[in-house]
Amino acid sequence: MLNLTEYKNRLEIDLEKITAELNTLGVHDPETDDWIETVGENNLTEADENIEADLAESMEERRATLSALEIEYRNIKRALQKIADGNFGICEISGEPIEEARLNFKPTARTCTTHMNDEGQLPL
Ligand SMILES: [Zn+2]
Repeated sequence: MLNLTEYKNRLEIDLEKITAELNTLGVHDPETDDWIETVGENNLTEADENIEADLAESMEERRATLSALEIEYRNIKRALQKIADGNFGICEISGEPIEEARLNFKPTARTCTTHMNDEGQLPL
């Protein structure tokens, strides 16, 4: 039997951490549950190509970080939803139980070890 309370606590702590990180990069849209990136402080008055290039680069980085965190955010929310729905720890591909060692390592795992390489193909 999986200790769901323990997973739930872990996931809730992770969710809190990731939400705090996401809040530094974007704003949450409660209607869609999407995170929208915020533009960093940009008080440039003079056009300076180098500065603009740097800004574009850091925007790219922020965007990349935000989408990576957003995927993690969704995975955590999904795992918590599964706990609520009673299907936590079930492989989304085969319907088989996910190995406990895998869940301990990664409570947001959506597949068993056999199908872990196909996890990226699952819809977000
Ligand atoms: Zn499987």
